[in-house]
Amino acid sequence: MAHKARKRFGQHFLHDEGVIEGIVRAIEPGRDDNMVEIGPGMSALTGPLLDRLDHLTVIEIDRDLAARLSQLYSPDHLTVVQGDVLDVDFRTLGERLRIVGNLPYNISSPILFHLIAYADRVVDQHFMLQLEVVERMVAQPSTPHYGRLSVMLQSRYRMVKLFDVDPDAFDPPPAVMSSVVRMTPLPDSRVKPASDHAFAQVVARSFGQRRKMLRRVLSDWSHAINWEAAGVAPTARAEELGVDQFITLADQLYHAGVITPASDV
Ligand code: SAM
Repeated sequence: MAHKARKRFGQHFLHDEGVIEGIVRAIEPGRDDNMVEIGPGMSALTGPLLDRLDHLTVIEIDRDLAARLSQLYSPDHLTVVQGDVLDVDFRTLGERLRIVGNLPYNISSPILFHLIAYADRVVDQHFMLQLEVVERMVAQPSTPHYGRLSVMLQSRYRMVKLFDVDPDAFDPPPAVMSSVVRMTPLPDSRVKPASDHAFAQVVARSFGQRRKMLRRVLSDWSHAINWEAAGVAPTARAEELGVDQFITLADQLYHAGVITPASDV
């Protein structure tokens, strides 16, 4: 069945066999893995994954593509969830999830943020993303790509950029380079914020004005912050702080009652 790629769903279909094989090799599927693919599209990855799995769940927003998948594969082998991945409660998909996908680039950050809430039931995530997004995910402090996405994701996952992919591996080719990343949730023993909400607020607000000194950006919260205890230099800007320092600042503000569960940035 012919399918015309829909721009609004970020459809760029993989056709390079070498790249497809490289992704599947990186994932290393095991027969009884609880795997979920986001955006299966024309099944470029779905087929090779199903060759190695007893069962796969896919989430596809495009009704035509979801219907095509249901026709192609038996329901014993493939569960098709037709809908927006941002509406999917991953708790309904079980435990020890292995999540994979060549993600729609127009909503890749919202998808990554949506999945943070389920990290405690995830074994790993392998995603194809825009190279620039992967660079932001893995960036270290005081480097150009470091920002909110780096801090929020690094507080929850260990991330490794695996390999880059040229636009001509896709049909139609995207305007940008792509890259495959592996995300592994950090263990329970990681440094955790007292409140995820407070942490998210402090990080968002700090990077809202990333070029300004942090003491200025957060000046109306300063009365509740012990900058020395957080190891933040007087002239420091958000992009110089590590994840642990943001957690310390968030904890101070949360324990002082400055950021409450109801407060907004
Ligand atoms: N996996 C296929 C491949 O590699 O050729 C398709 C990848 S294409 C970049 C992204 C896929 O995600 C498309 O099939 C698109 O319809 C689907 N998609 C877009 N937005 C979605 C959403 N919000 N929820 C679920 N699927 C979505």
